[in-house]
Amino acid sequence: MSLKQRLKKIIKLNLHRGTTFECPFCGFKSRDLEIVGHDLPILKEKHVIGGGRRAAGCYKCNSRDRERLLYAFLIEDLKIGASKNLKILHIAPEPKLSKILQSQNFKEYLCGDLFTEGYVYAENVQNMNVLNLPFQNDHFDYVICNHVLEHIEEDGKAMKEICRVLKIGGKAVLQVPISNNSAMTHEDFTIVDAKKRAALFGQFDHMRIYGQDYVQRLESNGFTVNKINISVKYKKFGLNPEEDLFFCEKPFH
Ligand SMILES: [Zn+2]
Repeated sequence: MSLKQRLKKIIKLNLHRGTTFECPFCGFKSRDLEIVGHDLPILKEKHVIGGGRRAAGCYKCNSRDRERLLYAFLIEDLKIGASKNLKILHIAPEPKLSKILQSQNFKEYLCGDLFTEGYVYAENVQNMNVLNLPFQNDHFDYVICNHVLEHIEEDGKAMKEICRVLKIGGKAVLQVPISNNSAMTHEDFTIVDAKKRAALFGQFDHMRIYGQDYVQRLESNGFTVNKINISVKYKKFGLNPEEDLFFCEKPFH
């Protein structure tokens, strides 16, 4: 960062310093949140939660509402850090959250991502495909896999695969961008053009926009789903009041 950029940042932090919000990752306390995200008509039209232009960024470390939501849920609400015996798989790990989970000394904390050219991955991330996870059945207590399923054509197969590697009673957090005003998921695999995909699905590499049938899609692929909203309880973290958690469990059959 140049001197000019550093000065600009100091001025920005002083302008927005306050007591309304507190970032759990860097500790910065602010009176508001930074406007982030892309403004696409489809995201507005379909009222997509978890994407689009919104007041959601930490002015200091750039954390977003959806990463802070996971922190609030896993670390503060579930207090998973207290259970050192857990085996956890984190797919496409959010870097700030991953660092915190890594430091908890869980029995197992594994990170995986489908390696794509041009991207740099943290040292602890292994190359893996969520359609074919290199683990035995009933292995993990938790799978964290957020904002991944919307990129995958065979999302049902990915859900089944995540369910397979979970122990019975094991939990998964599977967040996706979801339309608040569409009953049904909108997908069309004949559309392969990046620009068309962006216009229709909100991002060049998204396969769909999920609708309110997302819960049924998870259920039909093996999960029981608990829809939870903790945005009021953890208001200080600056969560999106409309963003529900899809807390999934591998049930006893
Ligand atoms: Zn921060």
